Amino acid sequence: MHCQFICTQCGRRYSFDEPKLRCDGCGEPLEAIYKSLKPEVEGQGSLLRKFRGFYPFGDVSEAMSLGEGRTPLIQSSVAGGQLGIDALYFKDETQNPTWSFKDRGTLCGVQYAISLGYKRIGTVSTGNMAASVAAYGARAGLSTFILVSAGIPAEKVKPIAVYGPHLIRVKGHYHELYDESLRVGEGYGIYFINSDAPFRVEGSKTIAFEICEQMHFHVPDYVVIPVSSGGNFRGILKGFEEFKSVGLIDDIPKLVAVQAEGCPPIAEAFEERREKVRRVRNPKTIARAIENPYPPSGNQVLRKLGENGGLALTVSDGEILDAQRLMAREGVFGQPAACAPLAATKRLISKGYLKPEDRIVLIITGAGLKIPSALDHLDVPIISTAVDGLMDAIGKVVEGSS
Ligand SMILES: [Zn+2]
Repeated sequence: MHCQFICTQCGRRYSFDEPKLRCDGCGEPLEAIYKSLKPEVEGQGSLLRKFRGFYPFGDVSEAMSLGEGRTPLIQSSVAGGQLGIDALYFKDETQNPTWSFKDRGTLCGVQYAISLGYKRIGTVSTGNMAASVAAYGARAGLSTFILVSAGIPAEKVKPIAVYGPHLIRVKGHYHELYDESLRVGEGYGIYFINSDAPFRVEGSKTIAFEICEQMHFHVPDYVVIPVSSGGNFRGILKGFEEFKSVGLIDDIPKLVAVQAEGCPPIAEAFEERREKVRRVRNPKTIARAIENPYPPSGNQVLRKLGENGGLALTVSDGEILDAQRLMAREGVFGQPAACAPLAATKRLISKGYLKPEDRIVLIITGAGLKIPSALDHLDVPIISTAVDGLMDAIGKVVEGSS
């Protein structure tokens, strides 16, 4: 299928085999556009095969798939009950091969890189995306360069290193590293599948596609998304837009972008009705996966929020941790960033913005076990006993609860 890239701001076009991430003219991110999409959503195999009518890849290599996507949409009982919302759902992206939504975009980015003949790929990340690119690079047999910030905590390095990439710690701000990666990529023929690379965004479309299918093509009223670079937000919205353009759905849900109070560049600009994000000085939040002080797709998220009629807001670390506990009480254990949507929903219900009758989907972006240190804040009662006291100890619990 014919595909080009278009600048999300100025509309300048680039050809499919020009592997750019940003516009030469205005510096804003690019996105893929197609001449004709085909409403084909049937079939087995990887996401790129199943939804092939929405991708430009004629020949998809199934061997690169690790079984990403096809994650469950779980109707909430505990949180929904507490908030008085009947139709509250978790789109559980923790069930991907490397336990986050990033695998969808990585598969897509790797497919694009291979179709252009690249032998090397890379990414700039401190967490979910690094592990994902390292895993898929290993799977595809590509030489994989992972650039992480120098301050990355030890608990996050080894789950990336285990896949065997070239892992490089770099001192400097994230956005400087992002820009430098593009220069390095051009210099050494490395395709950087960064957070808002066009084909990473294309991978995120499948979250929207699956929600449509799982809700029998009757879209929810709201989709609530933790937002960092803005790439996943853009992809999910693009997915709904493309399904509408081919007539598979009639409406597009309103999107809610959630950020942490300690790092809110997009939410702050939205609140102040600015068109551009400003870099946040001294970002600090427990939700590290959305701690992006200068999001490369921030301005595009603001433009799309305006068109979509959605909103951006912040939640505190305390609210995030409360939401993490609440979700776990019904079996879904997200990392802090992944729990921000539930925290935001709680706020928006109390403000009357969301109504109990609304149908709401929360994107649970990554798994709780990825950030074990966040559990230091978890205060749970644990019973201790010797073996000969076990009968009594359990007896007390049983009697207490009857
Ligand atoms: Zn441009």
